[in-house]
Amino acid sequence: MENCVFCKIVKGDLPATVIFENEHVLAFKDINPLAPTHVLLIPKRHMESLDDLPESEAALAGELLLRIKDVAAKLGVTGGYKVVSNCGEAAGQLVYHLHFHILSGKKFVP
Ligand code: 5GP
Ligand code: ZN
Repeated sequence: MENCVFCKIVKGDLPATVIFENEHVLAFKDINPLAPTHVLLIPKRHMESLDDLPESEAALAGELLLRIKDVAAKLGVTGGYKVVSNCGEAAGQLVYHLHFHILSGKKFVP
C-alpha cells in the first residue's frame, strides 16, 4: 500500500523505534504517546482493520495476540496494560493499517 505510513515503517522507508519484529508482526513506539508506555503492534501485511481480517487468517490472529503478550512482557508491564484496536472512523481510527495499541502507566476507561 503506497500511501500507508505503517507499510512505510515495515519497509524501512519511515523511521520508528522498533520494540519487536518477526516474520509476521512489527511492534514500535507510538509517535504521539498517550501513556508512559504506548506501543503499536501491527501485522506486516497490509489490512485496514479488524474488519478486514479474513477468516483464513486465524493463525495470524493468534500470532498478533501472542506477540502483544510478549511485547508487554518485554516492556515490563505484564499484568498491567490495556490493548486497544480502533476499528473505523466512528471509533477514531486514523491509520488504516490494522494495529493494536499497547498502553500502560495511565488509567483509561473503559
Ligand atoms: P488510531 O487512531 O488509528 O488507532 O491510531 C493511530 C496511531 O498511530 C496514533 O496513536 C498515532 O500517534 C500513531 N502514528 C501515526 N503516524 C505514526 C508514525 O508515522 N509513526 C509512529 N510511530 N506512530 C504513528
Ligand atoms: Zn499498510
